[in-house]
Amino acid sequence: MITFEEAFSRILHHCRPLPSERVCLSDSLNRVLACDVYATDDLPPFDASAADGYAVSSADLLEASPEDPVAFRLQDIVVAGSRSSVALEKRATARILTGAPVPDGADCVVMQEYVETRPGEVVFVAPGYPGDNIRRRGSELRAGALALRSGLHISPAGVAMLATLGLGQADVYRRPRIAVMATGSELVAPGQPLLPGQIRDSNSFGLMAAVKALGLQTVRVVTVPDDPALIKNELKLCLDDADVVLISGGVSVGDRDYVKEVALSLGVREVFWRISIKPGKPNFFGVMEGKYLFGLPGNPVASLVSFHLLVRPAIARLMGLIDVLPLRITATLGSELRKKHGRTEFVRAVLASEAQQWIVKPLRAQDSNMMSGLAQATALIVFPLEAEYLAAGGVVEVIPLYWNELR
Ligand code: AMP
Ligand code: MG
Repeated sequence: MITFEEAFSRILHHCRPLPSERVCLSDSLNRVLACDVYATDDLPPFDASAADGYAVSSADLLEASPEDPVAFRLQDIVVAGSRSSVALEKRATARILTGAPVPDGADCVVMQEYVETRPGEVVFVAPGYPGDNIRRRGSELRAGALALRSGLHISPAGVAMLATLGLGQADVYRRPRIAVMATGSELVAPGQPLLPGQIRDSNSFGLMAAVKALGLQTVRVVTVPDDPALIKNELKLCLDDADVVLISGGVSVGDRDYVKEVALSLGVREVFWRISIKPGKPNFFGVMEGKYLFGLPGNPVASLVSFHLLVRPAIARLMGLIDVLPLRITATLGSELRKKHGRTEFVRAVLASEAQQWIVKPLRAQDSNMMSGLAQATALIVFPLEAEYLAAGGVVEVIPLYWNELR
C-alpha cells in the first residue's frame, strides 16, 4: 500500500501531454496552449485616447487655470475607427472619443468633464500633461514580443487575448478520449426494476458526468458482469477506443474481483495498486503504450472521490496543464473529527464563509457507499495520514469540490 502523495506523483510521472491540434478560436476555451504565442503588431497598435475629451498639445495649456482659462479653436472630431487627416494647429483642439487615434500635434487628452464648450471653441481651466489619458502604442506589448506561454489554461480572458493578438486559431493539446466501464453482476441501470440482491449502477453515470463536467466526452460507457472473459473483451475494446479507461469495481481482493488480473493479461503494466486513503483504498493504476487505466473502487463515493483526486489531475496533465495539484485552502473546522492513524481521509463537508472566514462543516453519511453526503458536499477536508483527532475550531486543509475545473 502506498500513500496518497506517492500515488499522485506516480500518476503524474506517467502522464505526458497528448499531441497538439489546431482548433478555431471559439473552440479554444478550457484547452491548454501547446506553443508560445508572439505579438505580430504593437499592442495597442496606435496611440489611442483612453477617455472622451479633447486632444491638445500640453505645451499650449501650461498656463490654464480657473482664473486664467485658455480657449482653443475646435479643429476636428475623431471617433473610434476613424483618424485625423491633418495635424492639430497651434491653439487648436480636436474632440476625441475613447479608442480613437490621437491626432498628430497632440500629446494629451483632457477629459470632457474638465472643459467648457462654446460654439466652435473649447475652454480649458486646468493644465494638461504629456501622456494624460493616452494609451501609448506598444505600451502593453511590442511587435515580436512573447505574449502567451505554452501551457496556459485558456480561460475566457485567454480566448479574448488570442483574439486581441489577431489569432483565428490556436494550437492546443488534444483532449483525452475516455471510456467508462462499470463491473458488477449486481448492477441494474436506473429505470429498470430492482430484483432481490441487485443495486443501481450509479458509477457509470457518476463517472460519465464527472468526465462531462470537465468538458470532455466519453467514447464508450459499458456495464459488465463479474465474468473475466466478458471483462477482457470489453476492456480490449475500451483500450482500443480510448486514451483513458475508467473501470469501477472488481479491483479489490474479493473472489470475484477480476479487473487487475484481466488488465495485466492484456499487457497493462501495474504502476500501483491500493492507496492508504479513505475513501478509495482499492485503487489500481496501470499504463500500456500511451493508454492509462484507472481501476477505481466499486463503492460509489470512493469511485467519484478517486476521480476527483487522482483521475482529474491525470486528465489535466494529458491536456497539457503544468500545475495540476488540486487547489487547497485552509478553513476552520466546524465540528471535531476522529479516525485511525495510517491513512489519509478525505471527509465530505460543506464549505461556508462566515464573518469573512472559511468554515468547513463535516457532513453526516460518511460511509463509502453513501452518495447522499457526496452529493451535498462542496469540499473535502484533508485528515492527514498520522493524525487521529482534529479539534473543532482548529485550522484544517480543505480541497474545494469544483467538478467542472481541471484543478
Ligand atoms: P467492488 O469493488 O466491486 O467489490 O464493489 C464495492 C461495492 O460497491 C459493492 O457494494 C458494490 O455493489 C458497489 N458497486 C460496485 N459497482 C457499483 C456501481 N457501478 N454502482 C453502484 N455501486 C457499485
Ligand atoms: Mg464488484
